[in-house]
Amino acid sequence: MTSQTDASTPKRLLLWDIDSTLITTGGAGDKALKRVVAERFRVRDDFHDIEIAGRTDSGIAASILRKYGIDPTAEHVAEFLEDYLRQLAELLPQLMGHVMPGVKEILDHVQPKADRVLALLTGNLRRGAKLKLQRYGLWEYFDFGAFADDHQDRNELGAFARARALEKHSHDFEVARIDVIGDTGHDIACGKIFGARTIAVATGSWTREQLAAHSPDFLFDDLSQVDEVIARLDW
Ligand SMILES: [Mg+2]
Repeated sequence: MTSQTDASTPKRLLLWDIDSTLITTGGAGDKALKRVVAERFRVRDDFHDIEIAGRTDSGIAASILRKYGIDPTAEHVAEFLEDYLRQLAELLPQLMGHVMPGVKEILDHVQPKADRVLALLTGNLRRGAKLKLQRYGLWEYFDFGAFADDHQDRNELGAFARARALEKHSHDFEVARIDVIGDTGHDIACGKIFGARTIAVATGSWTREQLAAHSPDFLFDDLSQVDEVIARLDW
């Protein structure tokens, strides 16, 4: 058999983080959260005491509500996130972000391959992910995703991604054939928890050294060396 896509070719599933991995939005997410807090609590918060990068939007919303003495019930979190999505939709077109180096080229290389599946594993809500990726022309590359709507804890999202992969592709991806790509230690941790191969990129707020401390399987400064990245990762 010489066909590149015959049934015996092992499929690989690539699960991508969004913020500071695929794109940067010019700070739209942070600004949207700040606006919600300003609107609701009449406070200018810099969120110095709230961890944001690598966490889920629902987890972040719960932390913010707790800080302002609101019980983070599912209902309260959902209301907060509705406000957040409204602000995000308004801010995204006003701010200048960009696609991260090498990302578009890599997605263009991987997407046509029948034995490679592109999907999302992100702390964004599904609607937030769509707003952000549509703004930068990347939404259509991805087949499905696991989102903050699925679970507040990022470490639980791998199971949702795998279940969706099975549902959509009738193929149970072995964990050794699943890649988790992200820019924070939280991305690495969530991949390791279910046995995925972890690929860290130092294009966000976490330094190369901070990422290395979480022992990802691969660590890149960025993905700009497209051919090398594709070859090393067998993409
Ligand atoms: Mg990120």
